Amino acid sequence: MSKPATPSPPTLPRGERQNTPVGSPEFSAAEASLLERYFTNLDRPVFALRNLPEVVKGALFSRYSRTEKSLRRVLLDEFINEPDSGFDRLAGTPPADDDMVAVRRAEEFYERVLVGYGDDSVAELAGAHVAVEHTSTLAAKALEDSRIGISPLEKSTRYVRFDRRAADGRYLYYRGSELAHPDYEPAADALFETYSRLVEPATLAIRERFPQEAGETDRAWKSATRAKALDLLRGLLPAGTLTNLGLFGNGRAFEYLITKMAAHELTECQVLATSLHRELSLVIPAFVRRALDDRYGRPAAERMVRVRELVAKLSPSPLAGKGRGGGSEPSVRLVEFDPDAERKVVAAALFPHSDQPLEEGAGDPAAVLDALLADRANRRQRAPRALEHATYTFEIVANFGAYRDLHRHRMLTQDRQLLGTALGYDLPPGLSGLGLDADFARAVEAAADVHRRVERDLGPAPAQYIVPLAFHVRWYFRANLREVYHLCELRTTPQGHPDYRWVAQELFRCVSEVHPRLAAYARFVDLGPGDELERRQSERRIDEKLDALDRRVR
Ligand SMILES: Cc1cc2nc3c(=O)[nH]c(=O)nc-3n(C[C@H](O)[C@H](O)[C@H](O)COP(=O)(O)OP(=O)(O)OC[C@H]3O[C@@H](n4cnc5c(N)ncnc54)[C@H](O)[C@@H]3O)c2cc1C
Repeated sequence: MSKPATPSPPTLPRGERQNTPVGSPEFSAAEASLLERYFTNLDRPVFALRNLPEVVKGALFSRYSRTEKSLRRVLLDEFINEPDSGFDRLAGTPPADDDMVAVRRAEEFYERVLVGYGDDSVAELAGAHVAVEHTSTLAAKALEDSRIGISPLEKSTRYVRFDRRAADGRYLYYRGSELAHPDYEPAADALFETYSRLVEPATLAIRERFPQEAGETDRAWKSATRAKALDLLRGLLPAGTLTNLGLFGNGRAFEYLITKMAAHELTECQVLATSLHRELSLVIPAFVRRALDDRYGRPAAERMVRVRELVAKLSPSPLAGKGRGGGSEPSVRLVEFDPDAERKVVAAALFPHSDQPLEEGAGDPAAVLDALLADRANRRQRAPRALEHATYTFEIVANFGAYRDLHRHRMLTQDRQLLGTALGYDLPPGLSGLGLDADFARAVEAAADVHRRVERDLGPAPAQYIVPLAFHVRWYFRANLREVYHLCELRTTPQGHPDYRWVAQELFRCVSEVHPRLAAYARFVDLGPGDELERRQSERRIDEKLDALDRRVR
């Protein structure tokens, strides 16, 4: 073959040119024609995989740990040209068989190829997209309670109305048999009816209060005002409200998620564990195989249940005997911080540039922090890793809507208490100006009465389904300063929901009080009052972007 190994050098970045093997090309013409379907190029050191089943991609990558061959060579020698590999049946020909045959083949393939040289991390090399629809907000939280390896996206309470009904005319909230209580459905219906009844008057009142401005498109104005109405009313929705979400994740993370869901205290989550396992077994069977098996998954889930029950019994204030106080104001409390954090951050920043042990690093804090952070031009220019050496524990009481949003941050440790009604609820301040606060208060207080009865009869975990999102929940965040920068800069932007915006501002105030110099560089935290019509500026920017796109297309 006379094809040069390094095509068109001037168009390749310098690093790639240096790494490209020199000499004869790696593949013959015949080999190249077999391979080109599976890779985005055959002659450069950076390439993507395509048209390969997840299990094959996982197997291929896992071979990096045991071979000096290139990945494309491994595919050719050990899979395509190796009749015993099962590759041809799995990936080479268009699938003619039914799903179960494909699953069996994937399983065989896994046994044959991966078991020999893979460890558990191989299951991170293949992923899947899963949609979970008509699941309660509570179960969505359980699915999203994952950090490494799962990326969720869920239906927004700001852009989507939640009062659409099913074909049978019923509102969309969770109705599991474990919630068989005479008061549950009437209470949930009443909350949805109030939400539904208030959407139009709230939107109209907001439009009257914030009339369309000169230069503002109809689309932008209507969108911003409707979002404001839905933001104000979402507190009426019970935690059993059905939502839709998509999850993208790797096999290992899904395996653990399924096991955790199987051990969950909510029956709905246990059912979801089975459904997730069934569906993922059709696309990445090898990687979720242990999730519910008798050797690992089931015993692990059973142990999680045992531990939960054991620890619950040791709690000094058992849930069943929880006092019924007059509520608790929203609050953010800094429970723990490290007085030596600044020195540690500075030492960590200097460490890679020094030959001294970490604890002996010392430098001028002002100069080092300035060098690290002073010139950040926007919040996407991340704070450096050294900031992870300062950690804070916060205890937060805020409404479940705010919790639902902030819970999505993954670079921290967090846990919540059960959602109930004892801590009181938030009446959105914006509602009283519109004359709708009395309706709102009546509806959530009626739901609180029912919650107490359901809790008494069915227990505190299932009783959560009837609690409106306006009610307070207590949770903790243990976060490092880098995540504090990220979370507070992102969640205090003026277009954010006022509930989580307030929490993020308070988190930041706590840190600024104890570590003013470390906090001072988080320049994009917005401690101002925010926009009254939160989405107005964002919608205008969307219009500008749409205009720019239109001009480009024209
Ligand atoms: C204005 C606004 C509107 C939103 N609307 C919706 C909505 O409609 N629906 C919805 O579901 N969510 C919505 N969200 C939540 C959003 O999608 C994020 O889940 C949430 O903001 C957490 O942000 P994060 O992933 O940047 O932060 P963290 O999870 O705290 O992560 C910190 C950083 O670590 C990195 N990181 C963490 N995990 C990964 C990973 N798996 N892969 C790559 N990098 C990673 C990223 O750089 C990330 O910024 C909204 C958020 C905002 C601010």
